[in-house]
Amino acid sequence: MDDKLMLMIPGPTPVPEQVLLAMAKHPIGHRSGDFSKIMAEVTENLKWLHQTQNDVLSLTVSGTGAMEAAIINFLSPGDRVLVGNNGKFGERWVEVAKAYGLTVDIITAEWGQVLDPEQFRQVLEADTAKTIKAVIITHSETSTGVLNDLETINRHVKAHGEALIIVDTVTSLGAYNVPIDAWGLDVVASGSQKGYMVPPGLGFVAVGARAWEAYKTAKLPRFYLDLGKYRKDAAKNTTPFTPPVNMFFGLQVALHMMRAEGLDNIFARHQRLTQATRAAVKALGLPLFAPDQAASPAITSVMPDRVDAEQIRSVMKKRYDIILAGGQDHLKGKIFRIGHLGFVSDRDILTAIAALEATLQELGYEGFTPGSGVAAAAKVFANA
Ligand SMILES: *Cc1c(COP(=O)(O)O)cnc(C)c1O
Repeated sequence: MDDKLMLMIPGPTPVPEQVLLAMAKHPIGHRSGDFSKIMAEVTENLKWLHQTQNDVLSLTVSGTGAMEAAIINFLSPGDRVLVGNNGKFGERWVEVAKAYGLTVDIITAEWGQVLDPEQFRQVLEADTAKTIKAVIITHSETSTGVLNDLETINRHVKAHGEALIIVDTVTSLGAYNVPIDAWGLDVVASGSQKGYMVPPGLGFVAVGARAWEAYKTAKLPRFYLDLGKYRKDAAKNTTPFTPPVNMFFGLQVALHMMRAEGLDNIFARHQRLTQATRAAVKALGLPLFAPDQAASPAITSVMPDRVDAEQIRSVMKKRYDIILAGGQDHLKGKIFRIGHLGFVSDRDILTAIAALEATLQELGYEGFTPGSGVAAAAKVFANA
């Protein structure tokens, strides 16, 4: 049915009506005082969201553009970096680093498993010559629904003393506590179509003082994504190049909504959505792909064994207008993923689980008691 679509993928995520309406306006000049006012407010609120007093820079790119900026501004050709890879987005970090001629050491874990912080500790401790210039990881690995232990890995990076930590928080920022200043995270990348409740089109990079030191001597080529330019102009409430002005109208409103809800409530809501979804999936007898202790706050991956993942997605879309994500690469056809990031409420989960139950019935799957998934989710909400 037209206009009934429910996006439950890990980006783009649902956008509130007040954000859409804010964007449905004629653009204004980006060198105007009016735009500067918006830019000043948005920048302030982005710092609040990132829990940092340092810079948060807005770029006209998708999340991958923010990742690329996070590498090229702080490193030089041949620099040794240690990259965590346990999924599609860890792999992307490896690809970007290699594209720019860095020397890439990789710590891997199977897709669906968490990166082992102990392996980072060992490699970092062995590096007494301090040749590792950066440790680069994905916090919430969207391809599998695994949340990596950023806090512990970062502690080992701090013990090393020289390496920067560069993090993809694309599906954890605005969903999970990432206290950038308290943890001393150096470079943190994210994108608008994920936790921000706005459409795709903006990338964000938070940069700390140690990273700006590295910026001074970093020799990788940079022009459009030269963060020094963005920093200089942000200080004057402007941008070096034409920003997507209407995206800023929407972002301004989305950040108002976030401030009204409060960080703790936002994190608690995502935790509740995650727990309810996982409890429901378990009650339906469907195997979860990621372990409970390392569950992403943004996405729940399910690996059904007695019913076809793609058929589930197809019925959910055709009959119930609910879009779930499929698996990527070798997980294509093997898993489906339920997004619960950003503008998602308890009711959305109840709706999605009820539709999932109806879909399973239609597909002739008999491994569950009808109503048990909804009941399990409802129990989580009742006790939250
Ligand atoms: C969505 C996503 C990205 C960025 O993807 P783009 O398509 O470039 O916006 C990066 N990392 C993770 C973990 C993501 O989920």
